[in-house]
Amino acid sequence: MSSVYWDGRRFVGKEEIRISPDDRGYYFGDGVYEVFRVYGGRLYEPKAHFDRLVRTADGLRLKLPLSVEAIEENLTRLIAHNRLSEGTVYMQITRGAAPRSHPFPQEAEPVVLAYCNEVPRPAASMEAGIKAITVPDIRWLRCDYKTLNLLPNVLAKQEALDAGAQDAILHRDGTVTECSASNIMIVKDGAVVTHPADNWILHGVTRGVVLRLARASEIETIERAFTVEELLNADEAFITGTTVEVTPVVAVDGQAIDNGSPGPVTRRLQREFAATIG
Ligand code: PLP
Repeated sequence: MSSVYWDGRRFVGKEEIRISPDDRGYYFGDGVYEVFRVYGGRLYEPKAHFDRLVRTADGLRLKLPLSVEAIEENLTRLIAHNRLSEGTVYMQITRGAAPRSHPFPQEAEPVVLAYCNEVPRPAASMEAGIKAITVPDIRWLRCDYKTLNLLPNVLAKQEALDAGAQDAILHRDGTVTECSASNIMIVKDGAVVTHPADNWILHGVTRGVVLRLARASEIETIERAFTVEELLNADEAFITGTTVEVTPVVAVDGQAIDNGSPGPVTRRLQREFAATIG
């Protein structure tokens, strides 16, 4: 499964992919990426993912080697080649290969890599919820760009696992931003509260879908930053992301959120989300 890769030009086996040791992704994390969900053999919310890809590429002044339409067409072909029904497509585009030097290289061509993974929906954690810890957010000031530089996210996730939790909730001086690879929302007095889509968080595609679903369900939504204390005193908490969908958070730093089981607003949004998958 998942044996066919796309290198920006051809569909080839993994063993045929040749990435230069001079690739700037390898030296500097100089590139953009996206993780798309595939349901029923089709890309989920492709426009939102491509809009974010273009926004990040513009921010990094990295010229995409193909139009968004051509990329989408090739990812659709990649899914077909791999006969993928339920899973993800990972795609990254680096600034290309050039002798190691900080300035943008004159000659380098962007290097594309895309492949599929079979990934089931996370039924068990969506049902039971996860435990999380809080960790200082030590990332840079453009967390809205989806770049290959993920070391703070990697460290935070590992810290959570080492502590016996499933994920890390990031905060800046007590203000919650997001998680290591997902956005976070709390429910207080019936309203869904989440950090605004600014430079401090990744503008999650799932976050956007869930806010839209909440509004359509006449659940109040408030985009404002909240504190770790508000999180600990929330009625409900959940994370959103391409692979985690809507996953309840039932304990933070060893303290139960409300009664320690997923709440009714979270359950409602999980159902609404599942209905969008078709
Ligand atoms: N925040 C971070 C830091 C992420 O890495 C991700 C996804 O990888 C998300 C949020 C959720 O974004 P999306 O819903 O587009 O998957």
